[in-house]
Amino acid sequence: AFRKLVVANWKMHGSLAFNQALVEGYLQGLQALPQTDVVVCVPYPYLAQMQSLLSGSRVAWGAQNLAKYEQGAYTGEVSADMLRDFGVQYVIIGHSERSTAYCESDENIAEKFMMAKRHGLTPILCVGETLLEREAGVMERVVGKQLETIIRLFGGGAFTEAIISYEPIWAIGTGLAATAEQAVSMHQFIRDTVASADQAAAATLKILYGGSVNPQNAVQLLNQKEIDGALVGRCSLDVEQFIKICQASP
Ligand code: 13P
Repeated sequence: AFRKLVVANWKMHGSLAFNQALVEGYLQGLQALPQTDVVVCVPYPYLAQMQSLLSGSRVAWGAQNLAKYEQGAYTGEVSADMLRDFGVQYVIIGHSERSTAYCESDENIAEKFMMAKRHGLTPILCVGETLLEREAGVMERVVGKQLETIIRLFGGGAFTEAIISYEPIWAIGTGLAATAEQAVSMHQFIRDTVASADQAAAATLKILYGGSVNPQNAVQLLNQKEIDGALVGRCSLDVEQFIKICQASP
């Protein structure tokens, strides 16, 4: 098993003043928690601030998206090289809030995933089903298809040292997290799917859970050996709650 990894996804929240207080709180709270790895994924304009506040600390920083192109006439897009300029090591790919609102296809997501890898960034690939899909019992088919697109285009080796976050869409921002049992079962399915394409890559893959993680449910979730960590939205915006989630890691 890996050290547990807790990733904050601030989404479109923050300001220079708010962020500074928040990450200073993180750093202070984490002093007593040497066993947990922490990454904070912030809006693009704040990457420079993270670079100056977090360089040399044990908190790494990341972006919430990247362009699928290297450079060029793509107004409003941000490239992998630009992220590298600001010390970024991680990038969230395919978050459902993006794939729904901006119509990202599985192919687009796969290209972004590979773009991150080619530039030495660790992709955090989000996968997950809607409530209707879960109720219809097709959640594994849905998540399987999201993974298969990458496997078909780039091979299972693409998952070497990557991160997948299982984020059931019905659990995001709803207060209704998946049970540890539901998450463990999907995490096993994800690792098995990658292993059947590339056994060695599957052994290096971290699988996080995301969706309404809070200090209460984090204890159950993070103590499962199949769950390598958490991707935390709302509760990452509050020092005390975020640190409590980190404390829940064994
Ligand atoms: P919440 O923790 O606010 O449910 O958000 C989860 C999420 O989308 C993390 O990427």
